[in-house]
Amino acid sequence: MPGPGAYWYGEEEKDAVMEVMESGYLFRYGSENDPKFLHKVSTLESEFASYCGANHALATSSGTSSLLVSLIALDLKPGDEVIVPAYTFVATYSTCIFAGLVPVLTEIDESLSMDPEDIEHRITPRTKAIIPVHMLGNPCNMDRIMEIARKHNLKVLEDSCQATGASYKGRKVGTIGDIGAFSLNVFKTINSGDGGLVVTNDQKLYETAFGVHDQGHKPNRFGVEVGARSVLGLNFRMNEITGAAGLAQLRKLDQIVAVLREKKNKLKSLISGAEGFKFRVLNDPEGDAATLCTIVFDTRELAVKVSKALGSKTIDQSGWHVYANMEHVLGHLKEVGQPHTKGSYPKTDDILSRSMNISIGVVDGGLGAGWGININSTDAEIEAAAKQFTEVCK
Ligand SMILES: *Cc1c(COP(=O)(O)O)cnc(C)c1O
Repeated sequence: MPGPGAYWYGEEEKDAVMEVMESGYLFRYGSENDPKFLHKVSTLESEFASYCGANHALATSSGTSSLLVSLIALDLKPGDEVIVPAYTFVATYSTCIFAGLVPVLTEIDESLSMDPEDIEHRITPRTKAIIPVHMLGNPCNMDRIMEIARKHNLKVLEDSCQATGASYKGRKVGTIGDIGAFSLNVFKTINSGDGGLVVTNDQKLYETAFGVHDQGHKPNRFGVEVGARSVLGLNFRMNEITGAAGLAQLRKLDQIVAVLREKKNKLKSLISGAEGFKFRVLNDPEGDAATLCTIVFDTRELAVKVSKALGSKTIDQSGWHVYANMEHVLGHLKEVGQPHTKGSYPKTDDILSRSMNISIGVVDGGLGAGWGININSTDAEIEAAAKQFTEVCK
């Protein structure tokens, strides 16, 4: 049950991966003088940077790696506090924790992303960064978040893992704050099996992130390095096979988003007459990656009734992405003196208990989006889904 890119795996991905196998160069670095070396990873980086309108992109082994590399590159110090939403994937929290930082949770609003009104209440003298998470394919309210970040001198890392292809007021997500992290896992807009990307406009940040992801080396290991490495790194590199699949998928991204938007608009217009719910607030309807359609019901009773009748779940019951369901994170929050019980974020609990996700492109029961349509659904299938939804809302 994957994302739209996986529905569209085809000859392009297969040929690109086979070319790499035949070249004999599977590592991201190869002999520059050998025409057989295909530079798939570095081509993915340059094409993704230009797709995003960013100065730099760095390929990594996963979205989680992208977040961790970004946090380390931002030069945050152990004990620094980082503001994160109470509704996100566990990696947003775990990467902060492994970087020695303290995740401080905020409420979400009816866009199902970070509530700007709650951010300032969470700021202390130790707060050093904010991680807005562009949940479910649509951007956060970046104008407000950037205003607060500037006022308090906070770094901004955009967790764009669920929003490849989305934009905010004409700018691609990930390029508005200091640095942005993307995922290429199978549930995302496009994928390479696993993999990730980091984007930034800041040369220094890029060089540091590169070093962190590759044992302290300078970008592409050009130049003299032994004795001149300024950062200590690890290994979060992408390999050429992954790069080849990711590049073939990137070249389908515009088409994927265009098709999803068309199918989502169709479904939305067919169900908008039903009563008892609103669509979630979109901070930029034009910039929606359209991977999901989120319904916020007026009451919990209706949300439970409808989602059950469709064989789905309300978001609070979906298992993943909900702070209250992450016992391992709550245990850690307890140790560092942060709110750590279910019910600590009542606005988030209320919204998630009344909401359900309908799949448009990302079909993922773990996100509470096990029911809906997919990127290959026909008009007749979309009409049938809309009819079923409208019936059970009565
Ligand atoms: C998927 C996801 C990640 C992690 O990506 P992986 O590639 O699975 O490591 C991080 N943050 C969010 C919001 C995600 O949805």
